[in-house]
Amino acid sequence: MNRMLHTLTLAECAQKLDAREISSRELTQACLDRIQKVDPVVKAFLRIDPADALAQADATDSLRAQGATSARQPLLGIPVGMKDVIAVKGHTLTCGSRILGSFVSPYDATVTEKLRSAGAVIFGRLNMDEFAMGSSTENSAFFTTRNPWDPSRIPGGSSGGSAAAVAADEAPAALGSDTGGSIRQPAALCGCVGLKPTYGLVSRFGLVAFASSLDQIGPFTKDVRDSARMLSVLSGHDRRDSTSLPRPVPDYEKALGGGLKGMKLGLAREFMVGGLDPEVKAAVDAAVRQLTALGAEIVEVSLPHSEYAVAVYYIIATAEASANLARFDGIRYGARVDGADPIQLYERTRGLGFGAEVKRRIILGTYVLSSGYYDAYYLRAQKVRTLIRQDFLNAFEKVDAIVSPTTPTAAFKAGEKTSDPLQMYLSDVFTISCNLAGIPGISIPCGFTRSPHLPIGLQLLGKPFGEETLLRVAHAYEQSTNWRRERPPL
Ligand code: GLN
Repeated sequence: MNRMLHTLTLAECAQKLDAREISSRELTQACLDRIQKVDPVVKAFLRIDPADALAQADATDSLRAQGATSARQPLLGIPVGMKDVIAVKGHTLTCGSRILGSFVSPYDATVTEKLRSAGAVIFGRLNMDEFAMGSSTENSAFFTTRNPWDPSRIPGGSSGGSAAAVAADEAPAALGSDTGGSIRQPAALCGCVGLKPTYGLVSRFGLVAFASSLDQIGPFTKDVRDSARMLSVLSGHDRRDSTSLPRPVPDYEKALGGGLKGMKLGLAREFMVGGLDPEVKAAVDAAVRQLTALGAEIVEVSLPHSEYAVAVYYIIATAEASANLARFDGIRYGARVDGADPIQLYERTRGLGFGAEVKRRIILGTYVLSSGYYDAYYLRAQKVRTLIRQDFLNAFEKVDAIVSPTTPTAAFKAGEKTSDPLQMYLSDVFTISCNLAGIPGISIPCGFTRSPHLPIGLQLLGKPFGEETLLRVAHAYEQSTNWRRERPPL
């Protein structure tokens, strides 16, 4: 029986740990064994420190022996993987980049502290596209993570390591970050649940910034209940992040159940056309019928400015990235390549330290912010961003949530889009407007393509701070289907 511990959900782990059927050491060891078995193929982890993980596990086992339970500490003794862009004190924080290849974090991110207080075993560093720029993990300076359903394909990105680790049962849950889809897109392509919370709900203190007006941290889990549980742990005001909002944190798990009677769900006309793979469309259509059968009313809504979302995103995100990445100069952080003078030092350090995609973004971002172009690109993009948000707010006057595909296609082959950045950028057409609008979004499994057999994701978008409704709809759909029970053939 213990050989299957790695397949348990967070809720199942907590229940077995509380009942003393298993120990955290056994659970953690089961995940380490699973990693040893499948990670040579999946390559989700950049680093893992078994001794450190087991020491944390033992500490939680002692707490349990003294009477601690999951009632006060919902993750007590449960391993949670970390995308390598979130600070864990004393651990490397490479962001998938050579420039931070040996950088060790001097402090914990707020989410790391929160996981610790909830009792989690903080577990491993997960691969990602360099500085979270990408949709396939192929921009990692170290290696490409593979899709557990078909290792010749990519797991999505930028949080590809987190998605692949959870889908491959290497970790019961993991954290990722989402700036334009980096949680939802890989969750869809790997067949797990990925949630991007409302901007301002989860603190980004200790998350290395990519595009500060868009970045959010969120969980990858095996099911929706676990996603709710993780969100309750991660959310809450933090005075160290000025964009974090002072709001009480609900118990998101309490929002589950209750069904969909009386619920209105929007289907965005603009999201169901152009470039959408027929099998993905069929799966989403079937999910919509299923939601109707569960009692929801489907209403067509319009998001007329969403066609500009990718263009707007690649102006705003690159502009912010060019400013955020200025700090990696060889003086303050990470690797240094010496030069005859400071300018040469900067040039050499950044020239060798950053990969091609990061350089492309810095160049684009610097361009759209430069005098003479600022008004034409950056300012205009900001105005269109407001219109995109307004489209959503208008739609949410009529509906409780919006349903769409998460991605236009299932997982593509490694190497298929690396020579064409625009094709790569288009894999985020359905996820990007959510970040521009600051609203929450979740991706849940809704079927498989036939041959090859690859997961398809359904995206649900909610009102600002509408996570309870979002999770309730996602949970009702999930519980009426069996998609989550299928495991990759590893
Ligand atoms: N794929 C998008 C990009 O390359 C989104 C990345 C993200 O959400 N971090 O920017």
